[in-house]
Amino acid sequence: QAKISGRNKFHLFDAQKDEEVRTRHNQRARIREALLKDEFELYYQPKLNIREGRIIGMEALIRWNHPERGVVGPMEFLPLVEYSNLIIDIGNWVIHQALQQLSEWLARGHRWVLSVNIAARHFQHSDFLENLRADLARFPDVPPQYLEIEILESAAIQDIQHVREIMLACQNLGVRFALDDFGTGYSSLSYLKRLPADILKIDQSFVRDMLDDQDDLALIGAIVGLASAFRREVIAEGVESAEHGIALMHLGCDLLQGYGIARPMPVSQVESWVQHYVPPVLWQQRA
Ligand code: C2E
Ligand code: MG
Ligand code: MG
Ligand code: MG
Repeated sequence: QAKISGRNKFHLFDAQKDEEVRTRHNQRARIREALLKDEFELYYQPKLNIREGRIIGMEALIRWNHPERGVVGPMEFLPLVEYSNLIIDIGNWVIHQALQQLSEWLARGHRWVLSVNIAARHFQHSDFLENLRADLARFPDVPPQYLEIEILESAAIQDIQHVREIMLACQNLGVRFALDDFGTGYSSLSYLKRLPADILKIDQSFVRDMLDDQDDLALIGAIVGLASAFRREVIAEGVESAEHGIALMHLGCDLLQGYGIARPMPVSQVESWVQHYVPPVLWQQRA
């Protein structure tokens, strides 16, 4: 193999690169086709106020009903389009779908805040605000306060001034803001002061280990304190058991989301799930 010249190696590498580029291109084309063919679906994961024993909202999480592969999760396809305009088309579809769902739920008397995840590229696009305003106008029966936009803390701190302006403009429309996966970015007091997010979502990695890891417990306590100092709400995600839920409540975090409450589910299951759900504080009281 020592005979292969540097030049040949270079060509070999080039061919591999071409192949990769082609694969990427085909994958993106397939994702665009999925959007046109209506193969995406929103699943909904409930949010619990454990102190009040009440479901307060839902998070919309995208799924791809792939004709051959079955239900495909977002981490398997969104990273492929994160840097293309497709992430914007998908995001607009998600917002529209969410507003439609809110409209139906409100008509049925369900006052659930619905959050959607929006990618940094979409959020910072110049048309974002105008599209959001136009879409809200199509659903005059949905008070904008019922829509919440989740953006990653790590993305929000890339360009704080710009993100701050968009957040303020959206809040002017009445839409709420959450900083997702909070604690994994570079949480500092000074930037939180400049980002007017309504709610901090404590990242699930801290919640997962909180019962065994004193540092994670301390970190959650610190985030709850930070939220209270800045008069923001706080929610924990990745709550997998009642013990986690009760411990979080004792730390001052009453809003919870996680498999221990419910997995994300198709819309057809949501209402009956909420009807039959018994929150952990209630089973404690009954025991
Ligand atoms: P995320 O917004 O932080 O959502 C939480 C993820 O953790 C979801 O995974 C959810 O199913 C999962 N999860 C919830 N509770 C638990 C738990 O107790 N234990 C464990 N192990 N996992 C839990 P999912 O649905 O696969 O979504 C992954 C990420 O993909 C989301 O993280 C979000 O960043 C992104 N995403 C999902 N839907 C959309 C979307 O419509 N648009 C965009 N741009 N991103 C989305
Ligand atoms: Mg989220
Ligand atoms: Mg998260
Ligand atoms: Mg996440």
